[in-house]
Formats: sequence, C-alpha cells, structure tokens
Amino acid sequence: MPATIIDGKSLAARLREQLGTDVEHFKRSTGRSIGLATVLVGNDPASEVYVGSKRRLSQQAGITDHHRRLPGDATQAQVAGVLDDLAADPTVSGILLQLPLPDHLDTKELIDRIPWEKDVDGLTTISAGRLARNVEGLLPCTPLGIISLLEDEGVQLQGTNVVVVGRSDLVGKPVAQLVLQKNATVTIAHSKTKDLAAFTRQADVVIAAAGVPHLLGAEHIFPGAVVIDVGIHRSPGGLIGDVDFDAVSKIASKITPVPGGVGPMTIAELLRNTLKAAQLQN
Ligand code: NAD
Repeated sequence: MPATIIDGKSLAARLREQLGTDVEHFKRSTGRSIGLATVLVGNDPASEVYVGSKRRLSQQAGITDHHRRLPGDATQAQVAGVLDDLAADPTVSGILLQLPLPDHLDTKELIDRIPWEKDVDGLTTISAGRLARNVEGLLPCTPLGIISLLEDEGVQLQGTNVVVVGRSDLVGKPVAQLVLQKNATVTIAHSKTKDLAAFTRQADVVIAAAGVPHLLGAEHIFPGAVVIDVGIHRSPGGLIGDVDFDAVSKIASKITPVPGGVGPMTIAELLRNTLKAAQLQN
C-alpha cells in the first residue's frame, strides 16, 4: 500500500492560525508587543527568500518586524554591535541571525551574543545545553517541526527505534535529543557511518538530514516505517529531498514530501518560538 503523505503545509497553516490567536491574547493580556528581529548579512539569494518569508508570515501573525540588514563586507564588530543593540531592546522578543554568514565572520561567536531568552533559532551554546539537560528553553525550529509532524500524525515514539541520518547542530543532533526525550531508542548516523542501510533498515522512524540528494532509497527502509525527509535540494525537475520519494513512498507507512513536508513547519515553529520568547521575558 502506498504511504500516507504527511502534509506539513497544512499543519503549518493550522499552527500559524492558532499562533495568531495566541499572539493577540498575549498582547491584550500583557499590554506588550511581540517583535522578531531578522538579521541578514550580505545578499545570498536563498537567504533573502527565507528571511522574506519569515518576515511576511510573522507580520501576518501579529508579530512586529525589526529587520536589520548589513552589507556582505560587514565586520565581526559591526554584526556584533547590531546583535547587542537588539539584545538590549525590550521591544525585540526574538533575534534570528540568518545563516550562512559570509566566510570572514565567526558564526559561533556571533550566535552566542544572542541572549538565550531571545534565541528563537535555538542555536546558542546555552540553548543547546538547556536542550541536552532537558531544561526549559528555546529549541531549534526544524527539529521542533519534525516532532510536531510526528505528533500530529499520531506516531508514538516511546520504545521505537529511530535513526537520524546527520549530526549537525541545526538538525541532526537536536532532533536526536528530542526523540530521546520521547523515550525512543536513537541511533545517529553520519558521513563516516559504515553500511548506512544496515542501521536505517532497523528503524521504525527514519529522519533524513544528510544534505545529500536521494541518499535513501527503498533498500534503506523497512516496509511500514515512517520517513521524515529534511533535505532540500534544487534539481532540474524542482525541489527534491534526501529520500527518493517515488521509491520509498511505495513501502513506507508515512512519508513527508519535498516540498511541503518539513520545510513549512520550520517557519511555523520559529513564530511559535517568538511568542514563547516573549512569554519567557514577560
Ligand atoms: P549539514 O551539512 O550541516 O549536516 C549534514 C550531516 O549529514 C552531517 O552531520 C554529515 O555527517 C551527515 N552526512 C553527510 N553525508 C552523509 C552520508 N552519505 N551518510 C550519512 N550521513 C551523511 O546539513 P544540515 O544543516 O543539517 O541540513 C541537512 C539538510 O537539511 C540540507 O539539505 C538542508 O538544506 C536541509 N535543511 C532543511 C530545513 C528545512 O526547513 N526543511 C532546515 C535545515 C536544513
């Protein structure tokens, strides 16, 4: 039987609608506004598109836009200065430094200037530590979106075998920690893993975040498994993921498409994080 297609676009729209109501309620009950500062350095076309969507959808949800733009040759001190100003501004609830930054900048040092209560991308060292220790904080948006999709689909993680393919700070590591918190048995595979299929074939849930187009085919998936595809790649035929959708959707029980799966969830979770940040600061 072909897999159920997990519709991230529709869940993201539902979450954003609920968020609009929650933002209104927060503003009315506290008398405070909620603001999101997106910081874009340079003019990478993909980053321009991502930042544009984040600004548009946050404004639609009633969040005030505090966009800052710096030239591609901005110095470390200039970017740091902007982040410090935003950190000190009480009308800014969340700060998002759009990545990747130009090569001459020290990304980790800049991310760590963002106070953890305003770290709506969940990428600072403090946020990562809070996640590792299971202490309340702001979590990375794509991993949050994956958990929301699985929960909405009624996928119970407790006691299941989950294989995460990829170990980045942005996706692989944090999503592995989140599924571990849900009592799954987690394996993290990465570029040095030998015989990837031997691991993924044991999995009830496979989360593919390797950044390699069509890395996973039908031979990697146990029939009936749930497959979450995080990868996004441009190809002549349009956007594709890390999973060969046509082959895997014939044997998986549920699968996310690319586009329309994990992608839309990332922005929805960013907006939810911005409200959470405002609540943490209130
Ligand atoms: P990354 O390049 O930082 O990390 C990739 C990870 O995959 C690394 O840990 C590496 O060890 C592992 N890997 C690479 N080749 C592998 C292989 N052959 N077998 C097993 N593991 C392998 O990438 P990232 O930032 O984690 O992003 C991963 C993918 O997800 C990219 O395609 C990216 O565009 C996409 N992405 C999508 C969203 C979204 O909202 N849908 C958000 C973030 C990233």
